[in-house]
Amino acid sequence: MKNLVVGAGFSGATIANLIATQLDEEVVIIDKKDHIAGNCFDYRDENGIMIHKYGSHIFHTKSEKVWAYLKQFTDFNTYMHKVVGYLDGIEAQIPFNFNTLYQVFPKTMAKNLEEKLLDNFAYNTKVPILEFQKQDDDDLKYLANYVYEKIFLHYTTKQWGVPPKDVDGAVTARVPVYLSKDNRYFQDKYQGIPLEGYTKVVEKMLDHKNIEVRLNTEFKDVDASKFDRIFYTGPIDEYFNYKFGQLPYRSVNFKFETHNKEYYQSNACVNYPCNYDFTRIHEYKYYLGDKSEKTVIAKEYSEFFELGKNERYYPIPKDENTVLYNKYLEETKKLDNVYFLGRLGDYKYYDMDKAILRAIELFEEVCK
Ligand SMILES: Cc1cc2nc3c(=O)[nH]c(=O)nc-3n(C[C@H](O)[C@H](O)[C@H](O)COP(=O)(O)OP(=O)(O)OC[C@H]3O[C@@H](n4cnc5c(N)ncnc54)[C@H](O)[C@@H]3O)c2cc1C
Repeated sequence: MKNLVVGAGFSGATIANLIATQLDEEVVIIDKKDHIAGNCFDYRDENGIMIHKYGSHIFHTKSEKVWAYLKQFTDFNTYMHKVVGYLDGIEAQIPFNFNTLYQVFPKTMAKNLEEKLLDNFAYNTKVPILEFQKQDDDDLKYLANYVYEKIFLHYTTKQWGVPPKDVDGAVTARVPVYLSKDNRYFQDKYQGIPLEGYTKVVEKMLDHKNIEVRLNTEFKDVDASKFDRIFYTGPIDEYFNYKFGQLPYRSVNFKFETHNKEYYQSNACVNYPCNYDFTRIHEYKYYLGDKSEKTVIAKEYSEFFELGKNERYYPIPKDENTVLYNKYLEETKKLDNVYFLGRLGDYKYYDMDKAILRAIELFEEVCK
């Protein structure tokens, strides 16, 4: 069998690797970009700092299967992501937790709120912010309004370009109040950054005698009839020439700056929920502990995706978009031996581990 994989991000690289190694079949993997690794592409700059070109990527998973699969290609450091945000000029933990309480309020006030929270919620649980707002107690109502206003409202509006009422519940549920003292952003068992970066991981996944990588190659310029199976990780609407219309995405513009100092900020990621037009600043040297007298940061600005102008980043979860996606999904059923996967093929936000798992499961379903 000859296989064509469109897109050399984690989804494409996983399926290509499994077909080549487990079925001993030929795979041609193409990408329209001049590099592999898709959105997870990273590189060392002239200062020796590992830069994540399309935004900070922190690997985290609960899946033993994904962890075991990736460990064939890389070791990870023990980086566990933490986020701080500027709230009223104070650097405080995000998501809002018991430590944040003591960072932003006077001690007696924080203690009172902590006790009321413990009376009303189970310790170590996450309560979505919109749920948290449903309070009877005046003090907790005050706290809920504080978190809503200072952490949620402006950040969500900047990130999605619309007021929170127009943002899907699936997205707002991701912004919790965490009734815990755990400052980590993720609680997954396995977390870290690949020691040689993500691009190296994908390079190793694709380093096989059965795999041919063709960069700067668009799907439309390839003779698809020469292949027995096609795995398509590009945008599903583009595959069908946008016949039902374009699927909307949020995009992100990263403005990179190099500074002549060892560190720019106290943490890898600092959120600015209430100030400025950017949502957050990433400082890359934290992820692998890179040593340099200089430092590189990226200010992250959210914007709408416009074809030909910027990149697709986040599918926008909304009923009308699901309806549109489902029309394309129906079309895929008329095709033989063409399979869609990945964040663009499935029109679905996947963390890296979920994208890899989806590719492993599709391989098991289609190829075994
Ligand atoms: C800002 C941001 C931050 C993120 N941070 C994290 C994080 O911290 N942790 C985490 O686990 N996940 C994170 N993710 C998610 C992660 O980026 C995805 O899980 C991952 O990129 C999915 O890989 P993919 O292969 O499905 O898609 P992609 O990486 O986008 O790969 C698709 C590839 O297909 C190529 N392609 C598209 N159309 C064509 C065509 N017509 N012809 C040829 N090639 C084509 C593209 O050039 C691209 O290289 C983040 C995502 C974003 C947007």
